[in-house]
Amino acid sequence: MEKETLLYKRLRDNMVEKQIVSRGISDPKVIAALRNVPRHMFVSEALMDQAYGDFPLPIGEQQTISQPYIVAEMTQALQLNKGDRVLEIGTGSGYQAAILAEIVFRVYTIERINSLYIKARKLFDKLCYHNIITKYSDGTTGWQDESPFDAIIITAGAPKIPKTLVDQLAVGGRMILPVGASFSQKLIKLYRDQDGIHTANLGGCRFVKLVGEHGWDKQ
Ligand code: SAH
Repeated sequence: MEKETLLYKRLRDNMVEKQIVSRGISDPKVIAALRNVPRHMFVSEALMDQAYGDFPLPIGEQQTISQPYIVAEMTQALQLNKGDRVLEIGTGSGYQAAILAEIVFRVYTIERINSLYIKARKLFDKLCYHNIITKYSDGTTGWQDESPFDAIIITAGAPKIPKTLVDQLAVGGRMILPVGASFSQKLIKLYRDQDGIHTANLGGCRFVKLVGEHGWDKQ
């Protein structure tokens, strides 16, 4: 392995121990994914040495790549199985999609900002994530043609739970999303079974806005 690659691998292993495992993330699939995905490749060159820190980082267009722990927490909450098909709204840097792609059969991800969409698409190709399907569009209306999904993750804050997306969740499916005001939200887990929809509050969080037809208005 190259010296630089080794250095990042060491930083990444340290991140997984100090920020992920020690805070109670226990799903081996999630831990392995965080150990594998080269997070520094998902930020600009100037921020690469901060990529394994315990915080979100800017990715341009006033958007952010989430803190590693929140990525792990949300991924674990989805209770993923190998054969699952997962929909992500808010591709951003592509990091969360890559984590999902390490675990499941296929990931569908939608981004509404063209420059971020193009950058992430190129990175997925470079890193050989052939099981990530990308779309440039408003994700609040979901991806009807490919539904239903076993899991749906929204990585931007919604003013309310978008019903269109709940309708695209399979029976037995899990969904995770931040819901609430523009400056702070609750992380909501939603589960669909034969009886209907069940929700649980996993605690406070802070995400950039979900902007679109079933999200916030464009300011
Ligand atoms: N999952 C990302 C986090 C990116 S931040 C990562 O791992 O880096 C949230 C992203 O959601 C931003 O890129 C923003 O442009 C995008 N977004 C906001 N509203 C959206 C919508 N309606 N449809 C698709 N993407 C949206």
